[in-house]
Amino acid sequence: MKILVTGGAGYIGSHTVLSLLNNDFDVIVYDNLSNANIESIRRVENLTGKKVSFIKGDIQDKATLTKVFSEFVIDAVIHFAALKAVGESSTLPLKYYQNNVHGTLNLLEVMMAFRVYDFIFSSSATVYGGENVVPYEETMPLGEASSPYGASKVMIERALKDLAQANSEFRAVCLRYFNPIGAHESGDIGEDPKGIPNNLLPYVAQVAVGKRESLQVFGNDYSTQDGTCERDYLHVMDLAEGHVSAVNWLKKNSSFTGVEAFNLGTGRAISVLEIINAFEQACQQKIPYHFAPRRYGDLPAFWANAEKANKQLGWKATRNISQMMADTWRWQSNNPQGYPN
Ligand code: NAD
Ligand code: UDP
Repeated sequence: MKILVTGGAGYIGSHTVLSLLNNDFDVIVYDNLSNANIESIRRVENLTGKKVSFIKGDIQDKATLTKVFSEFVIDAVIHFAALKAVGESSTLPLKYYQNNVHGTLNLLEVMMAFRVYDFIFSSSATVYGGENVVPYEETMPLGEASSPYGASKVMIERALKDLAQANSEFRAVCLRYFNPIGAHESGDIGEDPKGIPNNLLPYVAQVAVGKRESLQVFGNDYSTQDGTCERDYLHVMDLAEGHVSAVNWLKKNSSFTGVEAFNLGTGRAISVLEIINAFEQACQQKIPYHFAPRRYGDLPAFWANAEKANKQLGWKATRNISQMMADTWRWQSNNPQGYPN
């Protein structure tokens, strides 16, 4: 079975490509490398001993997409390609809507033209917004996204529903990720943010490796156990395996059409201070940090009800927090500057 993976050179994409290859799928990666390094794919090939077909291309470029769909017989698409910096999306909303929404519509149009109907979409817990009560369940209505980035995910989920309504052959799975962290256990591939990291774990890891001085903890006056925000962190390899489960689920359920959403999380929330503490254990050193004001748009606490993915996809996150920290540290300490340029 041949799978086109857009954004496959990025953080979650590269780990998923590795899992797909290890499960004997053929993989074509389509990535414009705007936030990735081709070295991730080389390392995935080394780790698996298998080849990936790589095409440098943009999802906004319909001509190149069309060429790819004419050259390869594609069975399914896993769509990671997107811009993901929440803060930046508020200052450059049109760039985010162009890239994420328009790019996805382009991709779907080319898929329809080539009668490729199986689609797995990188959605996010952010689609639940602040209105829903925790833990989030898939039956809840989509919320009011707090950023253009979040809104792009809500819009795409809606577009997928409308497409499925109009085309009875189209089948989409929206995987709503909670907070992916960690790295492959080899320490060869991991998260390599460009510039100052926006997310907690890459920031903590860069402080530990001496690249940054001190972590700012955004807010210690939330109504949580220790006053800092709580999130449902899951290991990126568990997340990667969730995609393999979703592909297998589509394959097995040949009569399914429409759109189905699944939360991918552990069902457990932990705080920023707990993360710092767990990372200190993994790297055997103190992480300098200081409290800073709350970050705009942050919710106090959210986590997944992950029952549906467990029951229907047969998927469950199995790696614990110390494994997530140990693997992050292995990747960061082996590659203090990220992938070589
Ligand atoms: P990433 O930036 O590492 O990966 C995205 C990849 O897409 C990159 O390789 C980038 O070069 C590529 N890309 C971006 N725009 C493109 C375009 N127009 N054409 C072709 N390629 C393009 O990010 P990630 O963390 O691996 O996220 C993957 C997906 O998961 C994204 O859709 C993101 O929104 C979603 N997601 C991520 C998180 C998270 O915390 N990392 C949480 C929820 C959802
Ligand atoms: N966070 C922090 N300092 C940072 C980055 C993040 O205290 O430098 C906190 C942030 O306020 C949130 C949690 O860590 O409570 C997770 O943030 P991240 O950006 O990783 O994920 P998301 O906001 O998407 O849940």
